[in-house]
Amino acid sequence: MGDSKSSTHRVAVLDQELCQPKKCGLECIIYCPVNKTGGECIVQSPEDGKAVISEELCTGCGICIKKCPFDAIVIVNLAKELGEDKIHQFGINTFRLYRLPSLRKGSVVGLLGRNGMGKTTIVDILAGNTKPNFGQYEKDLDWDEVLRKFQGTELKSHFEKISHGDLLVSIKPQHVYMIPKAFKGTARELLEKYNERNVLDDLVTNLDLKYALNRNVTQLSGGELQRLAVAIAASKESDYYFFDEPSSYNDVYQRLSVARVIRDLAKSGKSVMVVEHDITLLDYLSDYIHILYGEPGAYGITSGLQSTKVGINSFLEGFLPNENVRFRQKAFRFETTTTADDMVLDVPVARYTSISKSFPSFRLKVADGQIRKGEVLGIVGANALGKTTLMKMLAGVDKPDSGTLQIGAKISYKPQYLSQDYDGSVKSILSVAYEDEIEGSPIEDQILFPMGLKKLYEKTVKNLSGGELQKVAVAACLLRNADIYALDEPSAFLDAEDRIALAKFIQRYVRANEKSAIIIDHDVQLIDLMADSLIIFEGIPGLSGEASPPLSKEVGMNRFLRALSITYRRDESTGRPRVNKDDSRLDRSQKESGNYYYLKNT
Ligand code: SF4
Repeated sequence: MGDSKSSTHRVAVLDQELCQPKKCGLECIIYCPVNKTGGECIVQSPEDGKAVISEELCTGCGICIKKCPFDAIVIVNLAKELGEDKIHQFGINTFRLYRLPSLRKGSVVGLLGRNGMGKTTIVDILAGNTKPNFGQYEKDLDWDEVLRKFQGTELKSHFEKISHGDLLVSIKPQHVYMIPKAFKGTARELLEKYNERNVLDDLVTNLDLKYALNRNVTQLSGGELQRLAVAIAASKESDYYFFDEPSSYNDVYQRLSVARVIRDLAKSGKSVMVVEHDITLLDYLSDYIHILYGEPGAYGITSGLQSTKVGINSFLEGFLPNENVRFRQKAFRFETTTTADDMVLDVPVARYTSISKSFPSFRLKVADGQIRKGEVLGIVGANALGKTTLMKMLAGVDKPDSGTLQIGAKISYKPQYLSQDYDGSVKSILSVAYEDEIEGSPIEDQILFPMGLKKLYEKTVKNLSGGELQKVAVAACLLRNADIYALDEPSAFLDAEDRIALAKFIQRYVRANEKSAIIIDHDVQLIDLMADSLIIFEGIPGLSGEASPPLSKEVGMNRFLRALSITYRRDESTGRPRVNKDDSRLDRSQKESGNYYYLKNT
């Protein structure tokens, strides 16, 4: 790969869905300078006519990237030594993974990085479902060859176990909504099937699954399915446990219970690995961190093992000091001030009196409040307390039983659950939301390019990943002509980097355009980054909910965390919020002083 004297090797990756040779005029082939001088650097595949790029002949000039109208090509030069660390590649011009993370008995190892960096490949390899090919995708290597490659590394014994068929693996998959499709019966029946460690009763209590036990899995909420999946994975007897995004659909309190169950597995001597995009949660549950960096969909590199604190701070910094690698140009910064009142105008765009709404088995009471111009109003609280009901009433989707909403402003609403039931492309769905052609419009510079959506224009909505669909839904919400943007769980399915970028973008957009936003989310870091004020939901989940008036962020978070009996401190170097360990010195002293959210003067 690359020429033998060069210090780099070439990575050329083609997005098969975006490459459309019938529509583009094959400009990559025409303009490639190697092709122009008679070489065959880019050719058409005889099977489907799509581009095939030779990594040996490619000089890395980047002309084809610019010429391709659909952004289908990625060409990157990587350090030659890294080629020695290639673990797997699926085929020509496809994704490749460099280096594997470590497994530590008795510890939780967290993986932190963007979607599309090889998480699934890592899990498949470490679980023994994919045999690493070290880039020789045309061969099926025998196990002796594979073991030779891991000679002298700590992973050798792990792969020996796999090669002998002795490795027991337990995986909590990402997509928990597949459970009702794969199993017919109650949660109890499913749990009893896998109760190999005889810990079912503890898991049911710790994960608050009591009310789910006798219900059919088809009747469970997203959060219950998530906790059920965690319980199943934790109840198996295995050597290696992997939890893929265990926080989704759960509120803060449930996220911490899930984290405790995962930590208990490690305490019992198991080897545990977790992918999690809620950074505060990952911080709480991991002992070590590997960062996955690279180019989404093109290549992923696993960093060296780091302590959790150093790893997360390096991730936010975008720089790995031990490896001298900068993987993001800009660092993510956290403001440690508690309010941004100077940015919020004292101009109400919506007001509401005390309102109430009743359902056959649930009652919601909301204290009066207002939404101001330039304000991002966060809504936090446990699940099943009526947060979405309030948002729907504010958005005019639902009506209160008593009380009035004076909302002259137009509201654009992004629901919690997103439908993928749309036959067209991303470009067309965004144009429908904008009520005009988006391509070439000023809105591209304002919203679509900063959100990284140009690359998705030609993709079909039905083929989008969860994270891509979420970004498109948030963009569609912002593109509608409105004064208030109401976003229900915008962080779901987004990776940590997209969450932070999105939070900062929404806040900037709202302030610069004198709009307002209402955000429901369970990711404390996201709320911390973007909210100017907070509505706190309290009550008995599933029975009755009570919403506070809008409170300052510090007062609101203190009240919310006091109810959960959790304290947060600030990391000294980055200012990010960190959960204190239960009953630690800081936890006790913050609780005594009533300062659950911020440690003042830090
Ligand atoms: Fe050809 Fe490589 Fe240049 Fe693309 S980057 S035009 S494949 S030489």
